[in-house]
Amino acid sequence: DASVVMRVRVATLGLHHVLILAEDHTHARRVEEVRRDFVANVSHELKTPVGGISLLAEAVLDGKDDPEAVARFAERIRVEATRLGRLVQEIVDLSRLQVADTLHEPELVDIGTVLVEALDRVRVAAEAKDIDLGLATERGLRVFGDAELLVTAVANLLTNAVNYSDTRTRVGIGARLVDDAVEIAVTDQGQGIPAAEQERIFERFYRVDAARSRATGGTGLGLAIVKHVCANHGGEVTVWSQEGRGSTFTMRLPVAAPQAVDTDPPADPA
Ligand code: ADP
Repeated sequence: DASVVMRVRVATLGLHHVLILAEDHTHARRVEEVRRDFVANVSHELKTPVGGISLLAEAVLDGKDDPEAVARFAERIRVEATRLGRLVQEIVDLSRLQVADTLHEPELVDIGTVLVEALDRVRVAAEAKDIDLGLATERGLRVFGDAELLVTAVANLLTNAVNYSDTRTRVGIGARLVDDAVEIAVTDQGQGIPAAEQERIFERFYRVDAARSRATGGTGLGLAIVKHVCANHGGEVTVWSQEGRGSTFTMRLPVAAPQAVDTDPPADPA
C-alpha cells in the first residue's frame, strides 16, 4: 500500500541523511584531530629552540668574565635563532598550503629555470661536503603552477639529498616528460630510508633520525611541504630508497599542454 511505501521511502531517506551527517561528522572530527596534533607539535617544536636560546643567554650572562665562552654561547644562540626562523617560515608556508588546496594564480612555469634556481640554493651546502651536483633535463618542459612554490619543493629535496649523504658523493637532478607528466627526480647516494619508514617521512615533523635531522638544521617539515606543493599542482611525490645505497624522490606534475602557436606549422593557404 502506498502509505507503507511512502513511509519506507521516508525512513530510507532519513537513514541516508543520517549516514551523510555521520560521515561529515567523522570527517570534521578527523580534521579537528589533525589540527590539534599540528598545534601540539608546533608548540613542542618551537619550545625546544626557544628554551635553548634562553639557557644560552643565561650562560652568556653568567660567563661575562670569560670572553671565549661568551663568544661560543653567542654563536650557538645565532645557530638556534636561524633554525627557529626557518621553522617559523616553514610552519607558515605549510599552513598556507594546507588551507588552500589549489593554487592562487597559476602561470606557465619553465621547469629548467626551476631546477637551476633550486640548485643555486644548495650549492654552498654541497660544496662544503664536496658533493658533486649534476643536472640533466629535457628542454622546454613547462607546467602550470607557482614557480616560487616549485623552487621551494625541489630545493627541499636537494637539501635533504645533500644533508643525508656522505662527503664526496653525487647528487643528481633530472626532468623529463613521461606520458602527460613532467617527472622531476632527485637522486642521492646517501644513507637511504628503511622501507618501513618510507611512507611516514612525508608526515609533518616525522624524522627517521631526530638527532641527525636536528644536527643538519632540519625542521621535519621539508617533505610535508613537498607533498602539499605537488598535491596543489595536481601531482604527487614518491620515493624509492634502499638503505646504504641511496634514495630517489620523484615529483610528478601534469605537463602544461603546448600552446598551439608554439608548435603548429604555419597555416597552409591552399
Ligand atoms: P628534515 O628537516 O628532518 O630533513 P624532512 O621532512 O625533509 O625533514 O624529511 C623527513 C625525514 O626523512 C628526515 O628527517 C630524514 O630522516 C628522512 N629523509 C628525507 N630525505 C632523505 C634522503 N634523501 N635520504 C635519507 N633520508 C631522508
